[in-house]
Amino acid sequence: MYLSDREAKDLILEIGRNMSSAGFVAANDGNLSVRCGKDEVWITPTGVNKGELKDEMLIKVRISDSAILEGTWKPTSETEMHLNAYRTDDEIVSTAHAHPLNCSILACAGIELDLPTTLSAVCICGRIPVIPYCCSGSRELAECIIPYVKKYHVVNLANHGPIAWGKSPREAWYRLQNAEASARLALGLASLGRLRPINSDQITEALAFHGIDMTPEGTVCRVDSTADLEPAIPFSEFMRQLMEKK
Ligand SMILES: [Zn+2]
Repeated sequence: MYLSDREAKDLILEIGRNMSSAGFVAANDGNLSVRCGKDEVWITPTGVNKGELKDEMLIKVRISDSAILEGTWKPTSETEMHLNAYRTDDEIVSTAHAHPLNCSILACAGIELDLPTTLSAVCICGRIPVIPYCCSGSRELAECIIPYVKKYHVVNLANHGPIAWGKSPREAWYRLQNAEASARLALGLASLGRLRPINSDQITEALAFHGIDMTPEGTVCRVDSTADLEPAIPFSEFMRQLMEKK
């Protein structure tokens, strides 16, 4: 059962406003699409701030041949990238792409997120790979995501930013938010120089407990660690050790 035109368009406008107020997009960055039929999606136009989208700016596009079915505005230059996600996986109902700062830092540094940090990072996004660099809006970029669609919930486009997909518009948007929270956390841990990762059994338990179907490729790495069994150290002790090293 697909969303109606009205529901799909309302969700794009709502998520666009949320994306903008969350600081995930500057200027006309980012794009969003929502499926409203087996072969149809609503997608955002090129050149518009995601916080300023209006009903009449959205475009209905056919998934199979990219034909414009409704709307007068020009669809985003990343339309083919979004359509390729739908062409690859029939279960996808929405895609969301933006340029949140911390994911973009990792995209430029070429660092994928694979460590089991928090439960939500493990269960919502899992592993977030950085996929090879391609020029934005190019056919190469649109094709580059295809092998990743069924294996991952979110990928980070090299020197660019993340794209997420999901079985509902909110799922795609929540995954994008979780990716940015995970990236922020990873950068904080890297500056701290300390992490007690969740261990392999705890990852298995959490995925089973929440009924999450994560592919082996999409699952964070299973570090062989007993760090979770060690007591937490007082901040004073941590700082003393840190200053000793300097
Ligand atoms: Zn972009």
